[in-house]
Amino acid sequence: KVGQENESLVEKDRQHVWHHISAYNEKNPPMIITEGKGAWITDHNGNRYLDGMSGLWCVNVGYGREELAKAAYEQMTKLAYAPLTQSHEPAIGLAEKLNEMLGDEYVFFYSNSGSDANEVAFKLARQYHQQNGESSRYKFISRYRAYHGSSMGALSATGQALRKYKYEPLAPGFLHVAPPDNYRRPAGQSIEEYNIQRAQEFEEKIIWEQKETIAGIIMEPLITGGGVLIPHPVYLEKVQEICQRHGVLLIIDEVICGFGRTGKAFGHQHFNVKPDIITMAKGLTSAYLPLSVTAVRKDIYEKFDTGEQNSHLRHINTFGGNPAACAVALKNLEIIEKESLVERSANLGERLQKELASLKDHPFVGDIRGLGFLLGIELVEDKKTKQPASNARVAKIIGECKANGLIIGRNGDTVAGYNNILALSPPLSCTDEDVDFMIAVVKKVFKENE
Ligand code: PMP
Repeated sequence: KVGQENESLVEKDRQHVWHHISAYNEKNPPMIITEGKGAWITDHNGNRYLDGMSGLWCVNVGYGREELAKAAYEQMTKLAYAPLTQSHEPAIGLAEKLNEMLGDEYVFFYSNSGSDANEVAFKLARQYHQQNGESSRYKFISRYRAYHGSSMGALSATGQALRKYKYEPLAPGFLHVAPPDNYRRPAGQSIEEYNIQRAQEFEEKIIWEQKETIAGIIMEPLITGGGVLIPHPVYLEKVQEICQRHGVLLIIDEVICGFGRTGKAFGHQHFNVKPDIITMAKGLTSAYLPLSVTAVRKDIYEKFDTGEQNSHLRHINTFGGNPAACAVALKNLEIIEKESLVERSANLGERLQKELASLKDHPFVGDIRGLGFLLGIELVEDKKTKQPASNARVAKIIGECKANGLIIGRNGDTVAGYNNILALSPPLSCTDEDVDFMIAVVKKVFKENE
């Protein structure tokens, strides 16, 4: 009976649910996930998996947290909704808490998703320049291989062609430069030199496009979904210096990197930079409820709401910053602090890198890199030519990890042939035994694929 019911669930899913991104695969249909506890999820057939991707890089404190459910319940029964055209206590408390983490210099605009937060960043950057007397500044520069969201503006900033080309024309005024990919830098060039050169590509773009037309640069502290590309510290510092010299706003997308993922509260804190605008989502609530924020430096905000007509940001979002989501975010940040999950992320990541370092000798592993509890393993066909591993090879490793109870991710840019980077980004709350399990599965699968 149970078996039959399960079959019909798969059938109903096939009939009625349109899945995100992946094409439907009859032989390997999407998992129907029924439960989550800690780092582990259970599917409708009772199979358990360690979720080495924290969902989509978001369930930072792990599944099944009663404290978060309770925070939502208590807030919903007290005040389920208030629009942020007015205000409410959880929104105020959360903004205060975020400023404590960032250094008290930001004002926060709430929305529901990472894409939303980036759209707000683009709109307010354009308006800021207008109110600053520079109305010709409307363009944004981002990087190839970066992902910034699915809505038209955020997709325009995204630098992965396969996600875009069927939906064009997208928003005008979005330009791209190449990111640093240290593993594939030209032979003989030092990482530092190469990163400075890559940063200078922004300056060239700004000059060729006429600097008076450039509103902002948007980037993640490290490219996550595009292949775990970690820059040398000089890169971000140089980009910031270029922004400042040309009056361009620096927008840092912390949607994945924020809230401990990289071993610091925010990814940009690894570098000597102070962003003008910061966008956050995912780990802000550990995905228990949808919430995102666009943090704006106070002196930028001060160009708004000056009392002059139309000096406010004309942007509204019905659900953005709803009280329950803010209450959950506050509780989530409390858990991160109480359980020292930022430090734990740094320590576990270090351990993961150390214990998996021997994979470098594997014939198909070109590079292993990571920051905090975010690891990338770049697979190649040939270590000398660095030819990206074939689809089949990457899929086989992922499938075998799954068969052994470990979900890992796949990243990169399909159109450029670089969809060959495996990612591990588990909940920061993983136990030591969870980490042992991950290491054992990865080592076993790679050994069997030598
Ligand atoms: N920015 C980055 C860096 C992301 O990884 C994502 C989502 N994967 C987004 C923005 C968009 O977030 P959302 O899916 O919540 O719109």
